Amino acid sequence: MNPPRAGRRLKIIVTAGPTREKLDPVRFISNYSTGTMGYEIAREAAGRGHSVILVSGPASLPVPKGVRAVAVESALDMKRAILKDFGSADAVVMAAAVCDWRPARLSRKKIKKGRDALSLKLAENPDILSGLGRRKGSKALVGFALETEGLVRNASSKMKEKNLDFIVANRPLFGNQKSDFLIIDRSGRVSKYPGHSKEKLAGHIIDKVEALCYSSAKYEK
Ligand code: C5P
Repeated sequence: MNPPRAGRRLKIIVTAGPTREKLDPVRFISNYSTGTMGYEIAREAAGRGHSVILVSGPASLPVPKGVRAVAVESALDMKRAILKDFGSADAVVMAAAVCDWRPARLSRKKIKKGRDALSLKLAENPDILSGLGRRKGSKALVGFALETEGLVRNASSKMKEKNLDFIVANRPLFGNQKSDFLIIDRSGRVSKYPGHSKEKLAGHIIDKVEALCYSSAKYEK
């Protein structure tokens, strides 16, 4: 593999796709994420010669060339897989649509129908990114915020709460649709990327990750 165009080769963990939270042996709770954003980021980073670990929930996309893929199912699996490599990573880009809840109880047998209604008790999943934010050190941490309202306000407060370097904000969109993206950084600067494909946006994200990792003025927190 070619060395990066600028600076040393970085170790970048990228997460992608939905998580699946099992209810019984044949059913799960999930979301509509296709994984496209995370796979494009992984492709871009590997194409620049970085060492990329793609921790992905179930997605039907081919693994980009030069990327080490780790397949996971649930949010708890995803957290475990990230923590294995977090210590030696330079950056984590969390593009995965992690399920906020999982069934509180996993039924070992298929749940039978034949009752009027079934109530499900859900337990909250850990916020993986917030956990990484607490032990950030000098690593670059990037998150995503999917918002239906108050895009800048909600994304900015998530960035601060999770202790991120920057956050990518957009309204819900699926698959390969183009969209108007925003990137908000710690200084409060809002950069606009109107009508961008996920592929094009991935280039801007990796530019920023490289700039953070290569800058000597990196802060420790
Ligand atoms: O708070 P919200 O779920 O909107 O934040 C989205 C960001 O947090 C995404 O980068 C997502 O990957 C991450 N996340 C996480 N663990 C969760 C939920 C979201 O790391 N349980």
